[in-house]
Amino acid sequence: MSFLKEIQRRRTFGIISHPDAGKTTLTEKLLLFGGAIQEAGAVKNNKIKKGATSDFMEIERQRGISVATSVLAFIYKNKKINILDTPGHKDFAEDTFRTLTAVDSVIVVIDVAKGVEEQTEKLVEVCRMRNIPMIVFINKLDREGKDAFDLLDEVEQKLGLRVSPLSYPIGMGYDFKGIYNIYEKKINIFSADNKQKVSKGIEFTDINTPELDKIIGEKWANNLREELEIIHEVYPDFNKEEYLKGDLQPVFFGSALNNFGVKELLDCFIEIAPSPQPKKAEERMVDSKEEKLTGFVFKIHANMDPNHRNRLAFIKIVSGVFKRNAPYLHVRLDKKMKFSSPNAFFAEKKEIVDESFPGDIVGIQDSGNFKIGDTLTEGEILNFKGIPSFSPEHFRYVNNADPLKSKQLFKGLDQLMDEGVAQLFTLDLNGRKVIGTVGALQYEVIQYRLEHEYGAKCSYENLPVHKACWVHPDNPKNDEFKEFKRVKQRFLATDKQGQLVFLADSAFTIQMTQSKYPSVKLHFTSEV
Ligand code: GDP
Repeated sequence: MSFLKEIQRRRTFGIISHPDAGKTTLTEKLLLFGGAIQEAGAVKNNKIKKGATSDFMEIERQRGISVATSVLAFIYKNKKINILDTPGHKDFAEDTFRTLTAVDSVIVVIDVAKGVEEQTEKLVEVCRMRNIPMIVFINKLDREGKDAFDLLDEVEQKLGLRVSPLSYPIGMGYDFKGIYNIYEKKINIFSADNKQKVSKGIEFTDINTPELDKIIGEKWANNLREELEIIHEVYPDFNKEEYLKGDLQPVFFGSALNNFGVKELLDCFIEIAPSPQPKKAEERMVDSKEEKLTGFVFKIHANMDPNHRNRLAFIKIVSGVFKRNAPYLHVRLDKKMKFSSPNAFFAEKKEIVDESFPGDIVGIQDSGNFKIGDTLTEGEILNFKGIPSFSPEHFRYVNNADPLKSKQLFKGLDQLMDEGVAQLFTLDLNGRKVIGTVGALQYEVIQYRLEHEYGAKCSYENLPVHKACWVHPDNPKNDEFKEFKRVKQRFLATDKQGQLVFLADSAFTIQMTQSKYPSVKLHFTSEV
């Protein structure tokens, strides 16, 4: 197959949702269509359960699973589909944000009864900011839920999307009759016993046929005809260009658990979802069709075996062909490297491959050379953009609890931060280290991993910080900035990239500081 065909057949995407909306179930059903797994239950639930916060074995088990499900690839109708796993738990939101830099599109799963939830809002906002094409899947139609029109309203209002329904439910919960596929103009009648199979359903091409009345009853048939008319009047028709620009979001309804409406979603997805897209580097735009290899690290995973401190760096290929044993430039280190056993991912397996193409994810064994955001090329100096750090929500001093192991502690902290587990700040005043995280769970993960993988012990001390603000003075030489630095000295720190950060204790402080020193800009993300 030619290089261009390889690119065109690839679809790399992520599924995002609030926990429990049905992401895992949907993933599993999608794999079923690819023939990648034989039965449901094969995709393990990669989520940290509530109440498991102090259960280290649970955390470890989850880490193991999350390696296995980091990338799930399968072939469907000759398309190579790469699903990138995104943790739903809010303590791991940062991981999900980073994964979103490596997808070309997303599917948003929403629970029909719960509607738009908090985590969905946050994740969709990030996708919206990046104009990532999104398809919405409203799940659990076999249960009683909100009215379909109300839900569409909610999606528009809370998520700020412009929706175009491509399927529409007939009834819901106990009365769930099926789905009208607006995209293909077909009706699919629901039956609860096709869970594990790829079912064909009954298809109608003409909405006005009396046959329809016979099967779902006159009342439901008329209802559907009316509602479809409203949809046609109220919502914009689907337009692929608008979807690809992130200006319009098609909506599907279904029940992942019952494998209902999933095939419709997948068939439409492979047709409309983008193949690997151009990606912005600081230096220039890189097109996927360029023949020279470029790629970047979006995730680093420590291996489970503490005796081999190897890590797996996940590289998204942006352009060219990634070849086994070819020399590539690690741009940040200015060093040529060869990789003898790059892994590709298929369903739950990983295997060594000779060639990977744009859109694919390659896993590379790493002993500490890679950081999130690192770029590989064939020699060109390129740095891919778009992997921001968000201000952490929690801040604690980290203390060395075993003075004989300070070297191990610093090495461990350094590597865990490269993996993106948390952010490290060094106070300018006294050099003390502060760890910032998105969720409290991370502190336990760090403590546990420092001890088990690096033989170091740490303790924490609370630090009343509200937000980390990255400091950008309009003019680093003016008196206002000097004054700011003098007055705020105790609250200034440096992040791992050497950037100046102001650790503000409250929203009020930020406001006051901003009005007192207007030329010193404070940002909540490290990427500007
Ligand atoms: P995740 O946290 O988003 O990955 O959600 P899961 O896929 O683990 O699903 C959460 C729960 O919802 C599980 O108990 C699923 O069996 C259930 N579930 C998923 N899809 C459906 C559906 O279509 N109908 C019903 N009734 N339950 C579902």
